[in-house]
Amino acid sequence: MIQPVLEKVKQESKIWLSSPHMCGKEREFVNEAFDSNWIAPLGPNVNGFEEDLAAYLKEDVHVAATNSGTAALHLALILLGIGKGDEVICQSLTFAASANPIVYQGAVPVFVDSEPGTWNISPEYLEMAIKQRISKGKKPKAIILVHLYGMPCKIGEILRLAAEYEIPVIEDAAESLGSTYYDRKLGTFGEIAILSFNGNKIITTSGGGGVVSKNSNYIEKARFLATQARDSAPHYEHSHIGYNYRLSNVCAGIGRGQMLILDDRVKKRRQIFNSYRGLLQDIPGISFQEELTGMFSNRWLSVIQVNSKLTPNHVTRELLRLNLEIANIEARPVWKPMHLQPVFKDAPYFGEDFSENLFKNGLCLPSGSNMNKDHFERVSKNILSLLS
Ligand SMILES: *Cc1c(COP(=O)(O)O)cnc(C)c1O
Repeated sequence: MIQPVLEKVKQESKIWLSSPHMCGKEREFVNEAFDSNWIAPLGPNVNGFEEDLAAYLKEDVHVAATNSGTAALHLALILLGIGKGDEVICQSLTFAASANPIVYQGAVPVFVDSEPGTWNISPEYLEMAIKQRISKGKKPKAIILVHLYGMPCKIGEILRLAAEYEIPVIEDAAESLGSTYYDRKLGTFGEIAILSFNGNKIITTSGGGGVVSKNSNYIEKARFLATQARDSAPHYEHSHIGYNYRLSNVCAGIGRGQMLILDDRVKKRRQIFNSYRGLLQDIPGISFQEELTGMFSNRWLSVIQVNSKLTPNHVTRELLRLNLEIANIEARPVWKPMHLQPVFKDAPYFGEDFSENLFKNGLCLPSGSNMNKDHFERVSKNILSLLS
């Protein structure tokens, strides 16, 4: 009998969009947790990680470490007293975790479009949203700013608006640890800010987050609420609804190790972005997120916008993405705006179609700090095979 020839197709190794990148020192902190039996959502690594973060961010902030960025944002909304029926403004072009906690509180999100430079919230549409909601007797209770893919939003203009209308700002700095605005770290501008240490972020604790504020009362209360809101008594006494949101001491150990190399990770991500820009900037129809005056992005992800009216052979974003996928390279469309999500279809929206077009034409390229030269070459050859 004739045997079929089983041809072995060699699949090249996967290149991820952004995967965890350990430095080795994390193990020492994790071992300490094991050796001292601090396997709990409290302990020396949690305190140490919070101190490391506060020292890194400067501006005399305090930090409460949580088990996710989403939990941190939920706590931030509670701390600002957001409740049932309140309205909260949020950038539409973002990950759902920026908006979901608004709904956890029974509040209503009001979405705002982005502007072309930073791809973050448009100050013009933000003001329009504030004015219109006030005219309806629904003054927004908070504004959630997002620094998408590490890029600062137009902080100066937005803080002026927030001050003028007296609305507190929550900074969603989940993607932007290490970015700065006029040399001041993102995460220090809002009344409260939140961080994320999820597996795909610039540094990770496998899962984790942080609440940041200059106001130590907020941070104390965040820790209280995150540990089931236990009043001080030998038994379990509760005068508030609590949450189980604290970061474990084992995960905080990973975080302490990661803090040692955060600046290197920022440097590497920026190098990767500059390499992509060097490779693609002269190709018609390809554009990037821009650092405006005073802005420094950690370039968490390198993202291109593909205008297929101008690209060679009218190559589209989707064609580029699929061609990368076939070669076992992970690339993803830009976030789908929240006002287009079925779950938020009834929420008010202020803007035009800028974020929609970014969703249609934007592509996040592999940007992990653990990418090597071979990885970058594989990605760039793949892209250039269509674009040159
Ligand atoms: C990752 C992320 C979050 C949520 O963080 P988790 O730690 O995954 O809960 C919130 N907002 C944005 C913009 C994010 O990218």
